[in-house]
Amino acid sequence: MNTIFYTLGKNGYLNITNRCMMACPYCIKNKWNNKFYGHDLKLEKEPSVDEIIKSIDDVKKYEEIIFCGYGDALTRLDALKETAKILKSKGAKIRINTAGLANRYYGKNILPELENLIDAISISLNGSAAQEHNLLNKPQFGEESFDEIIKFAKEAKKYIPIVVITAVELPSLDISKVAKIAKDAGIDFRARPYLDNDEK
Ligand code: SF4
Repeated sequence: MNTIFYTLGKNGYLNITNRCMMACPYCIKNKWNNKFYGHDLKLEKEPSVDEIIKSIDDVKKYEEIIFCGYGDALTRLDALKETAKILKSKGAKIRINTAGLANRYYGKNILPELENLIDAISISLNGSAAQEHNLLNKPQFGEESFDEIIKFAKEAKKYIPIVVITAVELPSLDISKVAKIAKDAGIDFRARPYLDNDEK
């Protein structure tokens, strides 16, 4: 059975798509065969909003409900907004984990549409320059993605209360440089562990 909703620690996670704007060679979905700590995150079909809502037992049990699976939930902007509206009305705090390329993907600024729906957004920036970022993440929009992500993070601050740039502690990446980029942009930074062991 494919997993739409899974839990980790105090948070609940929503896996609503397997589509992504990056093709990161280090993505654990490849080496973990789409599994994640006992859950199968490979979706045979993308769930409807109704299926997403029904997959969650009780939003109040979780500190945050986070759109984060083996894909970028912002590829399903309408479903994400509709889901967030329902969850918000039930008292949830909502976060999106994203590659930060949604404005480029849609060719417009989608961030105003998230205002009052989303409490926090974590934006991955695994690279400290355009060429390095392109090599490490293979984004759909090539080297222009790097500047686009930083622009997206700055713009997000106008509409979303908590904006954080994150970077994975990849062996080949000097994340202190990414932390400096975030600081210079006036955005909080958080390092994320590199999951290199087998899925268990
Ligand atoms: S952005 Fe995340 S989900 Fe997408 S390929 Fe990279 S690591 Fe995997």
